[in-house]
Amino acid sequence: MTAAPHLDAVIIGAGFSGLYQLHCLRDRLGLSALVLEAGDGVGGTWYWNRYPGARCDSESHSYCYTFSKELLEEWEWTERYPEQPEIMRYLNHVADRFDLKRDIRFGTRVTAARFDEAANRWTVETEAGERLTATYLITAVGCLSSANVPRIPGIESFAGEWYHTGQWPHGGVDFTGKRVGQIGTGSTGIQAVPVIARQAKHLTVFQRTANYSIPAHNAPLTPEFKRWVKENHPEVRRVMHSTPNGHPFVIEDRSAHDVGADEREAIYEAAWAKGGLQFRAAFRDLLVDKSANDTAAEFLKRKIREIVKDPKTAALLSDIDHPFATKRPPIDSNYFDAYNRDNVALVDVRANPIERITPSGVVLRDGTEHALDVIVFATGFDAMTGPLLNIDITGRDGASLRGAWKAGPRTYLGLQMPGFPNLFTVTGPGSPSVLSNMPVAIEQHVEWITDCIAHLRAEGVTRIEPTEEAAERWVEHVNAAANATLLPLAGHSWYLGANVPGKPRVFMPYAGGMARYRQICNDVAAKGYEGFRLEG
Ligand code: NAP
Repeated sequence: MTAAPHLDAVIIGAGFSGLYQLHCLRDRLGLSALVLEAGDGVGGTWYWNRYPGARCDSESHSYCYTFSKELLEEWEWTERYPEQPEIMRYLNHVADRFDLKRDIRFGTRVTAARFDEAANRWTVETEAGERLTATYLITAVGCLSSANVPRIPGIESFAGEWYHTGQWPHGGVDFTGKRVGQIGTGSTGIQAVPVIARQAKHLTVFQRTANYSIPAHNAPLTPEFKRWVKENHPEVRRVMHSTPNGHPFVIEDRSAHDVGADEREAIYEAAWAKGGLQFRAAFRDLLVDKSANDTAAEFLKRKIREIVKDPKTAALLSDIDHPFATKRPPIDSNYFDAYNRDNVALVDVRANPIERITPSGVVLRDGTEHALDVIVFATGFDAMTGPLLNIDITGRDGASLRGAWKAGPRTYLGLQMPGFPNLFTVTGPGSPSVLSNMPVAIEQHVEWITDCIAHLRAEGVTRIEPTEEAAERWVEHVNAAANATLLPLAGHSWYLGANVPGKPRVFMPYAGGMARYRQICNDVAAKGYEGFRLEG
């Protein structure tokens, strides 16, 4: 073990959150801050998710930082939805422009963090056995960074290659001439299928839960649109800050029942033609009224049946068991069309689950064997809590975070946990995070944390920690916000932790909306950090 100098702040992760947090603490507050990052470069989720077709579902002009006018004016996106390599170029540009890399330690995985009560500081331990101490510990570990590879018996015996989409090889994978099996049809799987299908000899898609998807209609941005964005970025930002989901479009103020069937159909057709996550904004009640949701669900299922030519495949793809958008709605580039190719087959593993993997492929419960050369696991993540619980975090009185969250995450505002002083989580469970356009949620969190730390230092406060009661009330409010929507109806969604065997079923993100959440956080700060205990 080597001792390192004490820092004001250690930040874990160099994605969107960690980069901006470093900039704020170092360049605005003048603190000593260091980012520890497991990867060999910046990018966070985009550093790891290099799977075929990886592209953001937020529109590029909204999937960026807004804190710097100069940055907004100098950066130019090329497509409606940015592809993974373009986002990596953007984040590297940001890191270089603000000279951030000199305070990022790459290839450094944090394994443990312990609060030292006597010294009022965190000791952070890395995989290499190094120790660092810091007054503030800020986790910027992302919500979707802990890969979920299902424990299918026999996986270690597979003679071919297998990959999880969230840990994709940097050199890419050549599927030419290969028989590929893909497990998973979430946002990731739906992006990967058409791209893999174009290269592989044959692609078998193993579907457990059929999913809605809206066409992305991705295209290069026109010079006119690029100019419009540059001239109107304050307005784009204002809209993103005013909406529940942080996207640059407003939700229509009409119910799906306010219009007749023909008009509703025309509205859905127009939304389908426009494409993207905006489809959800066609009516204000799609996520709160089941009968309103049914109208969208029926429209989308019909679209699937119209696109997919084989009736049996079309029936399987459109046999969707949850209301529209209660699982994160994917958007796609020719996903359903891919099933019209001769080299793509769909296998229903809801009715006939995968039983084991053999050296030569995948065997289903009824004994059917699918011979494969490559298996792609598009099986998602141990979301939100996974990345935090992978670190052995010990707070006050020797209490571990793993113990404190045994029955599910307990936070105040998704920003702090009782028993863990001076530890801040960016977009943690209990915050809007994954239910919103992430950069908007991230900027709000990072700025709130920065202002909070500035306040603590100005007032000579040495410890901040939420009270048990405040966390209790917030957890109740998070549950109530989810229950006011249709979101909990998708009982198998990762929002509930249902995709990871043994994980507590708790609705993790805050469904009350980003704009409302921002106001709550501002009010808490304005009332002298109400709900937090400030000591020192
Ligand atoms: P996901 O939504 O959790 O989907 C995982 C898929 O794998 C589901 O179809 C799931 O089926 C299936 N699966 C898991 N274990 C299985 C098993 N043992 N056997 C058969 N099937 C299994 O994960 P994801 O697609 O990676 O997406 C996660 C989130 O990342 C998204 O919701 C989104 O927030 C984000 N994301 C964003 C973008 C973007 O912006 N471009 C792209 C990709 C992902 P069940 O549904 O039955 O569990």
